Amino acid sequence: MKCDRGGKFANGELQRFGNIELSPSAGVLNYGQGLFEGLKAYRKEDGNILLFRPEENALRMRMGAERMCMPAPTVEQFVEAVKATVLANKRWIPPTGKGSLYIRPLLMGTGAVLGLAPAPEYTFLIYVSPVGNYFKEGVAPISLVVEHELHRATPGGTGGVKTIGNYAAVLKAQSVAKAQGYSDVLYLDCVHKKYLEEVSSCNVFVAKGNVISTPAIKGTILPGITRKSIIDVARGQGFQVEERLVAVDELLEADEVFCTGTAVVISPVGSITYRGTRVPYVEGGFGPVAQQLYSTLTRLQMGLIEDKMSWTVELR
Ligand code: PMP
Repeated sequence: MKCDRGGKFANGELQRFGNIELSPSAGVLNYGQGLFEGLKAYRKEDGNILLFRPEENALRMRMGAERMCMPAPTVEQFVEAVKATVLANKRWIPPTGKGSLYIRPLLMGTGAVLGLAPAPEYTFLIYVSPVGNYFKEGVAPISLVVEHELHRATPGGTGGVKTIGNYAAVLKAQSVAKAQGYSDVLYLDCVHKKYLEEVSSCNVFVAKGNVISTPAIKGTILPGITRKSIIDVARGQGFQVEERLVAVDELLEADEVFCTGTAVVISPVGSITYRGTRVPYVEGGFGPVAQQLYSTLTRLQMGLIEDKMSWTVELR
């Protein structure tokens, strides 16, 4: 889908997956003017397909586009394009419980710019790929390391939108952590260097007794759609959920820590290392809180329980 100079996208068309042509001076290549989204399609037991809250991804892309000085497809255009792409690729969607189809919408400045400025033209495209588990541990606990020098976002920056540069900012810390045997990095705020932010590609929750806490959305962390859904599910199940500043010291007292995101769904955290001290949580499996929430969310996404919130969109 391309956008004209009036900022409106014309409806697009399906094309075979392949390379795209780009000017060397495209805005996205030179000034990082790009946004992406991630969502999944699941196969129901009756063979139909379920999307999970696609309009939330459309709204988040529109919010990001505003920050990045880009026009964006309407919510309806976005959702219709996702549906058409998924239906055209439905043979790639694994059976219920065996994985999903990951959907990657991408919005970028493809017009040429030399001096720093928003690009004069934009492209919106979607590609898909069947996926299994995100971490090599599968749904087994992951190990995180707290990063206290490198930051992924600054107040007033772009950490709260899903722009490509945020991911460039985490590559260094994530590669070092992986080389040291950790699954991923847990970032701290860059002002006080003591409040939890998020992991490279997922949000973080800390459970203690009946209280589940998660860093509040304040512009430096991504407002995850799984995060938002888990907050509602947990409240519905009687947990007290607090969105607030969560100090790194609270990790020492927590019963369970888990991460949420489209790719990771819910990943239990087995241990967190902070300034050389390893804090262990659940060994080998899920803690009871993460297990309960994982079970509800995944059954909802696969159509195995009633969708009382109307979060899923069914395609056949
Ligand atoms: N934080 C970051 C930095 C992410 O990349 C993602 C993945 N989109 C998330 C959190 C989780 O967001 P969501 O639940 O919408 O996938």
